Amino acid sequence: MNRHAVALLSGGLDSMLAVRVILDQGIPVTAVRFITHFGCDPVSAGSCGHDVEPLVKMWGPLGFTVKMCHLGQDYIEMVRNPKYGRGKNMNPCVDCRVMMLGWAREMMAQVGAGFLVTGEVLNQRPMSQTRERFRQIDKDLGLRGVVLRPLSAKLLDPTLPEVEGVVDRERLLDISGRGRTRQYEMAKAWGVTEIPQPAGGCLLTDPGYSERLRDLWKHDPKAGARDINLLRVGRHFRPSPGCKIVVGRNEDENRMIEAFAETGDTLVSLADFVGPMTVVRGRHGPEEATLAASITARYADVPDRTRTVRAVVSRKGGVPVMIETVAATESEYGPLRVAAG
Ligand code: SF4
Repeated sequence: MNRHAVALLSGGLDSMLAVRVILDQGIPVTAVRFITHFGCDPVSAGSCGHDVEPLVKMWGPLGFTVKMCHLGQDYIEMVRNPKYGRGKNMNPCVDCRVMMLGWAREMMAQVGAGFLVTGEVLNQRPMSQTRERFRQIDKDLGLRGVVLRPLSAKLLDPTLPEVEGVVDRERLLDISGRGRTRQYEMAKAWGVTEIPQPAGGCLLTDPGYSERLRDLWKHDPKAGARDINLLRVGRHFRPSPGCKIVVGRNEDENRMIEAFAETGDTLVSLADFVGPMTVVRGRHGPEEATLAASITARYADVPDRTRTVRAVVSRKGGVPVMIETVAATESEYGPLRVAAG
């Protein structure tokens, strides 16, 4: 077996530590970092979005490299129809692990690695990190004995790299459960100062985000990346089954909403006051655009909410028009709200 491992690097602390345990045995590690439309990208605030560059700088001399892999449409299809069900929210953690390990298996062949490494900790997550689940996933992927989980390895059956003496089992760990004390000690010992927050997971574990995703697929079962990208920003309103209004909550979101707008969308902002950028998407006409203008006024810095203000309404690619509006009242916009944003 080749003394070279491919590791799944989520951006969470556990996967970093698992990598380091293997590097410390003098075994080079090619880590694969997956990016999806659900928050596991380098600019996301989610736990999977932790920047790995400092780590590469620190551990590169030990034989550590990272490859990025965007799972794109395949991942969306898996989230739409997970084979193994979901966790508490929309997160299909078992299917997600299966898909990521499947890709890592391909990577293993590409780089000539002998085994896979993950940062999974036994019993840390009730759905995806049990002994039985590990066995089932490895078996389903034809990877029995090939996936080494260094943080819990001493509590699990020996894997092939251990049996063949490529990895010293004695120097692996026996961590189990949700506690993080030992992980913090290891991080300190290895100079990892930027410690990601406890693994909360990707956006799919967030109740509000999950509700917005459910709402999207309920009204448009085929909705893909274009609409999914909008779910991570703003306050969401659904004035009719085929139409969504998304209102930015800060400058960053306003910029993102503008960038995400496509042909057919309508952008709305106020002419004379600082406030949100709003996009109207789906089947809509003047009525929805007028409603969007009044919701925009509601969330803008307008000192007197009863005052009439001017809004710029612009169909993407069309000529902007100016309309007059008054801030919507709670009874007008409240019932249209989709989850807390
Ligand atoms: S939280 Fe679950 S679904 Fe999200 S990236 Fe982690 S394993 Fe995958």
